[in-house]
Amino acid sequence: MIYCDDCGVVPVPEQDLPVCLPRDVVLDGSQSPLVAHPTFSHVNCPLCGKAARRETDTFDTFMESSWYYAKFTCKDSVAMLDERANYWLPVDHYIGGIEHAILHLLYARFYNKLMRDEGLLTCSEPFSHLLTQGMVLKDGSKMSKSKGNTVDPQGLIDQYGADTVRLFVMFAAPPEQSLEWSDSGVEGAHRFLRRLWRQVYLHVNSGSVPALDKASLSSEQKAVRRQLHHTLQKVSHDMGVRFIFNTAIAANMELINTLSKFTDDSDNGKAIRQEALTFIVLMLAPIVPHICEQLWRELGHTTSVSLEAWPEHDASALSQDELEFIVQVNGKLRSKISAGAGASNTELEALALSDEHVQKHIEGHTIKKVIVVPKKLINIVV
Ligand SMILES: [Zn+2]
Repeated sequence: MIYCDDCGVVPVPEQDLPVCLPRDVVLDGSQSPLVAHPTFSHVNCPLCGKAARRETDTFDTFMESSWYYAKFTCKDSVAMLDERANYWLPVDHYIGGIEHAILHLLYARFYNKLMRDEGLLTCSEPFSHLLTQGMVLKDGSKMSKSKGNTVDPQGLIDQYGADTVRLFVMFAAPPEQSLEWSDSGVEGAHRFLRRLWRQVYLHVNSGSVPALDKASLSSEQKAVRRQLHHTLQKVSHDMGVRFIFNTAIAANMELINTLSKFTDDSDNGKAIRQEALTFIVLMLAPIVPHICEQLWRELGHTTSVSLEAWPEHDASALSQDELEFIVQVNGKLRSKISAGAGASNTELEALALSDEHVQKHIEGHTIKKVIVVPKKLINIVV
């Protein structure tokens, strides 16, 4: 388009297209190189021939935000893109605010397909996964600079440390939902980190840690390990697959609760506490990296926790080998029995019928039927 003082906005005549951009531009990072160019914008009006001005805004702002993710792979390349783009793209996980989700993503996909058709890329979609994060609310309304209701986290970071503020933000809501800012929530996050700190220090000051002997675990020890490995399994799924962090943090809080009640000082007890605290530190390190780095070293490691692989759960710890069954006679609770998790209904019936408390209630009666509710109860009808 050409701007003429007399004729207004005049299109460039078709025979003059395309308008080629100058190559002798100066990119100083602040002024538009087309505005700064000495001759590009000076043209004659196609209608009246008087001096006129050429449009210099050739790209919409959406143009650049539509392909920056590709240029980031090869920013030093003179060509638009090079083979590094195919190595890195598509983007594994794209995170952005919901307010940008519609137009920007539409244009980014369009531009990606254009670059594919031009042979610059091979992938058809720019992003494999998308997470649109929620807003931060204060007293129910969106926190924003224009409303002046923002909370500067710096004061809280000074008071509690960055880990506490990170934990609070991650724990307050799933990432795609809005979160309500709460000073008392920050306090709660801080209390939890102090509990974790105390648990690790009490443990490392309780002497050397023997190796775990899985063959001689008590039922309480098995239960703690079951919760530990179940937590690890859940957290791996929540963080690695679902991208939900608040439930992963809650599961670790429950595990810390269990550990604070687990006062077993036997060799296996200590070994289980070492195993549990090690996994808790590994699970929480992506969320509260500073405290976990310190605790990792306290637990006897010399390398950074950030270099550790994600831990794998022990499937054998998850199996429940003994189950407790309620035994009823005509619907009334008469006894409780323990049985192996793999016991058949026939075995369960026999165990229930031979129980001494049950025998008192069935003696002299005819047994009509025995109902087994898996993993729960056995009802004897007489
Ligand atoms: Zn004119």
